[in-house]
Amino acid sequence: MTGIPDTMLAVVMAEPNRLELRRNVPVPGPARGQALLRIMSSTICATDQKILAGQFPGTKFPHIPGHEFAGQVVAVGPDVDELRPGDRVGVEVHVGCGRCARCLEGLYQLCDSYGRTDKGHAHIGFTVPGGLAEYVAVPVKALHKLPEGLSWDEGAFTDNIGIALYAVERGRLAAGESVVVIGPGAFGALAVQVARALGAGQVVMLGTRRERLERMRGFGADELIDGQGDEAIAKVRQALGGRGADVVIEFAGTSEAARQAILLARRGGRVVLAGSTGLGRDLSGVDLSTIVRGHLDVCGSLANPKGISGRGLQLIARGSVDVTPLMTHHFPLDEFDEAWATFVERRGGAIRVMLHPGNDRG
Ligand SMILES: [Zn+2]
Ligand SMILES: [Zn+2]
Repeated sequence: MTGIPDTMLAVVMAEPNRLELRRNVPVPGPARGQALLRIMSSTICATDQKILAGQFPGTKFPHIPGHEFAGQVVAVGPDVDELRPGDRVGVEVHVGCGRCARCLEGLYQLCDSYGRTDKGHAHIGFTVPGGLAEYVAVPVKALHKLPEGLSWDEGAFTDNIGIALYAVERGRLAAGESVVVIGPGAFGALAVQVARALGAGQVVMLGTRRERLERMRGFGADELIDGQGDEAIAKVRQALGGRGADVVIEFAGTSEAARQAILLARRGGRVVLAGSTGLGRDLSGVDLSTIVRGHLDVCGSLANPKGISGRGLQLIARGSVDVTPLMTHHFPLDEFDEAWATFVERRGGAIRVMLHPGNDRG
């Protein structure tokens, strides 16, 4: 492995609520089925805050976080011929065991062997080391070659775009249908653009705070509506011409957003709940007849199954989805502390804060 140093700079969660930038972390070697990546672009997301707080049972400390990144293959494991050094790749973070019933359906994110590295399962940046470091060794099953012309920064959205695309596809959107997206964050912005790319008719985005919504301008929503509770529902229905939406996608992650999502669907419509991935939120305030008599399809959407990110990358490559405005800040990995504070405090309207580990050493 010529040119690859023995040690690297890496973000380490030493224990819950203790985050450090360490300089002498050993660079891993690629094992069977793995590729070693030099990480070029890597982002911080709200889930990293939850991991740091110790809210992910599958995470063992010390831990290197980072699950939204792209890099260059610099070495491969002994049995790997799918990729070569020099290849530019983006990472899909759920890697299933490949053997259980769910994995055989391609639903890596629902793998029955979650956390079992001995069975080949890896949740990159959660149960195994992630991409907030100069190098990472990951299963080649997780990797997508970046389409021609895609930047490293765009490639860092490999996992995110898969999540947004999957949620919209769960809603079985047909061309010309109306869509409401709840939650003006990175995933909401991507869902709006994906809905547009798949031929949606009217697209309305709902959020609770105006200034956050304003940042979503330019992503393709016909209307940006802010408000709380039933008043917000009434405003959205009005925007839809007094009707409910054909498809509602929820990425806000609150009980209230889930309630609104169900109440915003037309009879026979589809509701995709994708925001509340953690424990501790109840659904209340929904008359069950809204679902039963309303003949609604209400479904959960967790992360992304095997391979969908590759299709999502095509949407970025063709310009149907523009992730550039989501990258509000850029830092070298050396300045991780500043980057973390910028993200956590949402300084300067931070949405995605990009780190560039591969450029630190020149
Ligand atoms: Zn994330
Ligand atoms: Zn499995």
